[in-house]
Amino acid sequence: MEKVKTLIIGSGPAGYTAAIYASRSNLNPILYAGLQPGGQLTTTTIIENFPGFKDGIDANQLMIEMQTQAKNVGADVRDGSIVKVDLAKRPFIAEDERGNQIEANTIIVATGASAKYLGLADEEKYRGQGVSACATCDGFFYRKRTVAVVGGGDTACEEAMYLSSLAKKVYMIVRKPYLRAAEIMRKRVEDQENIEILYNTNTFGLFGENGVEGAHLVRFKGEENEENYDIAIDGFFLAIGHNPNTELFKGQLELDEQGFIVTRPKSTATSIEGVYAAGDVADPTYRQGVVAAGAGAMAAIEAERFLQEKGEK
Ligand SMILES: Cc1cc2nc3c(=O)[nH]c(=O)nc-3n(C[C@H](O)[C@H](O)[C@H](O)COP(=O)(O)OP(=O)(O)OC[C@H]3O[C@@H](n4cnc5c(N)ncnc54)[C@H](O)[C@@H]3O)c2cc1C
Repeated sequence: MEKVKTLIIGSGPAGYTAAIYASRSNLNPILYAGLQPGGQLTTTTIIENFPGFKDGIDANQLMIEMQTQAKNVGADVRDGSIVKVDLAKRPFIAEDERGNQIEANTIIVATGASAKYLGLADEEKYRGQGVSACATCDGFFYRKRTVAVVGGGDTACEEAMYLSSLAKKVYMIVRKPYLRAAEIMRKRVEDQENIEILYNTNTFGLFGENGVEGAHLVRFKGEENEENYDIAIDGFFLAIGHNPNTELFKGQLELDEQGFIVTRPKSTATSIEGVYAAGDVADPTYRQGVVAAGAGAMAAIEAERFLQEKGEK
């Protein structure tokens, strides 16, 4: 069986940064890229908030650069996915989709997460043309314009507050007759002048010639007083949660109630010694490329120190 000091699962900013650091400290890592080589950023166009690129950079190009950098310092970057892991004891065993098994002294999990969408065909149609699942990433493009945020939890409230500082007007489209957010957050949103909360409301479509120009909404769906109406908006932001890619680790690593991997404070260490988690897979809070990259660096440094301590380097 193939043996490796550090196996990295995932090829987003977290995985590639971990690979760069691990390679440069002589861990000769193997990285599996998975079904989405380059990760989530390959689904967007320009990224303007990754430091080092004064005019922004094409996000696909950024991920190609990261991959090349990882390969240049010696990482073994492979196509394909890891389909099974056995973390019961070290060395851990992982298996790829072709049935190849790898024995790994440490594992860095960087499998990311995906935003939840409502499932409307129009979300697909207007993706990148007014539909976004990340206010921090895309809010800037909607300065002095009108946007809608879908969701009624803490994240939706945070995104709405953030957008309200940039946009002229923010609608919150909330399915329930109340917000599910913490009291303080709820109050903040309700008191914000340019936020209008549309309770008991669902979206059933979007419209617009060149990008989103409005949303078709329904209030009191399925009830006697059901009412259809439209709002004019320039941006439609989903804030209904994320699905972390942690299926592989269920029953092995400690996960929180949403399925994110639980890591120790100020660390990427998971509930199993020698297994580290970096990036969106362990981050329900920030979900940013640069944060994921930082966590990837942390994971590789922690793996290196662990191997050193165990005399396995
Ligand atoms: C449309 C969009 C726009 C965004 N814009 C910005 C922005 O402007 N600025 C910003 O900072 N952030 C932005 N983000 C967020 C950013 O993309 C994420 O925070 C970042 O990509 C997280 O990196 P990651 O490495 O943790 O995971 P991801 O990028 O999610 O990568 C996960 C990787 O794991 C791999 N994988 C999963 N399962 C397996 C498996 N079983 N075996 C092997 N590999 C596996 C996948 O193939 C993928 O390569 C945006 C996100 C989206 C969706």
